[in-house]
Amino acid sequence: MIVEIASRVSETLLAEAAGAGACECCGLLLGMPGLIAAAVPARNVAADPARSFEIEPATLLRTHREARGGGQQVVGHYHSHPNGQAEPSVRDAARAVANGEIWLIIAAGAITGWRVVDGDPGGSAVHGRFLPVTLSPASAAV
Ligand SMILES: [Zn+2]
Repeated sequence: MIVEIASRVSETLLAEAAGAGACECCGLLLGMPGLIAAAVPARNVAADPARSFEIEPATLLRTHREARGGGQQVVGHYHSHPNGQAEPSVRDAARAVANGEIWLIIAAGAITGWRVVDGDPGGSAVHGRFLPVTLSPASAAV
């Protein structure tokens, strides 16, 4: 699976991760299937933001509402791993829902993409839940 990502989204995510320091940054991704066109940073309201993330509910609600009104979709979300681990954690797997959303993880100055699978017959999914998504720079201005 290949998903295109706008360059300004990549730039925003890398800056957000760097700015969050020892805490995980998080936010939502807007666009359409196969294209991530915009990022909406959110406050991480997790009890332990250094090791987990929870998108502030008010931002979640507002973004879904505005996306519907603006003809866009919430296609996924992102968070960072300050420990540099460039794949989903066991904690991520425990809360992963196979709803088609893209997970982006920023770690060690790079972005990786993932999607949640319900079953893992091939046995290759990370923690039995996540398969990698290939991220490609968006070909057209979005
Ligand atoms: Zn994580």
